[in-house]
Amino acid sequence: MNYRHAYHAGNIGDVLKHVVLARLITYFQRKDKPFRIIDTHAGIGTYDLTSEETQKTGEWQDGVGKVLAADMPEDVAAILAPWLGAIRARNADGELRHYPGSPALARDLMRPIDRLTLTELHPADFKTLSELFAGDHQVKTIHLDGWMALNSFLPPKEKRGFVIIDPAFEVTDEFDRMARAVVKGWRKFSAGSFACWYPLKDIAGLFRFHDALIQAGVRDVLTLELKVGRSGPDTPMLGSGMTLINPPFTLAEEMRTVLPWLTETLAKGPGAGWRVEQLIEE
Ligand code: SAM
Repeated sequence: MNYRHAYHAGNIGDVLKHVVLARLITYFQRKDKPFRIIDTHAGIGTYDLTSEETQKTGEWQDGVGKVLAADMPEDVAAILAPWLGAIRARNADGELRHYPGSPALARDLMRPIDRLTLTELHPADFKTLSELFAGDHQVKTIHLDGWMALNSFLPPKEKRGFVIIDPAFEVTDEFDRMARAVVKGWRKFSAGSFACWYPLKDIAGLFRFHDALIQAGVRDVLTLELKVGRSGPDTPMLGSGMTLINPPFTLAEEMRTVLPWLTETLAKGPGAGWRVEQLIEE
């Protein structure tokens, strides 16, 4: 396990993932009933953008840095408000230093009745994560393989909630592992939502993943993509996407408002673009 998210925190992939995560939480809070968030690949929770790792790549400057520096139309600002509000609350002096990863963002937006389950496999990252949430009775941190553990968490006792899956994509069969885990998880919790992030690199793998969902009979699948284009041959990430099962019915429309603006704001060169596609109907 070489991947450390500290090098990538706040980059364009995180922007898409965390905007969507914040929208999911906002949607689930429309009802008074409690819900559970299960984050299978949690990372360390929150990131210091002045750290050596983050400084080394500076990826956040092309992601969250650009979003915060840009003028935003009102409709976009309204949709991004939960995510940006959480970031601003952690940086009260106005300087962007602390970037909430998926666990910290979820925790900041949760109500006292909501719960969060986090798995992280990297020993050092798990230690940092578990220390961050030590003594927090709303958060459970577990040092396990997220692919293996997911099945045992489903269905959650709240009977409401969603799974966020954000693998490191260090291995070539990550899409296949994701397909197996998601199909198995959906069979146990078909009323739940699943949000899977992926980099736009292995397009054959992405097709295999989508085919597996179709073959398994999964319904109501939405795919979102944000591509920033290429600034040169060494561009580390062209873009990323998310595939959601049982997304909030409001999400596609929200993303049709936000993604054109994000694409324009984050574009690096030719190939920039966005996609909102209902892959499988309800
Ligand atoms: N979701 C985090 C966020 O948004 O802040 C970032 C997660 S990062 C992309 C992927 C994480 O998955 C890394 O911290 C890595 O150590 C961890 N990881 C890799 N394989 C794993 C596995 N099989 N089970 C659980 N965690 C794993």
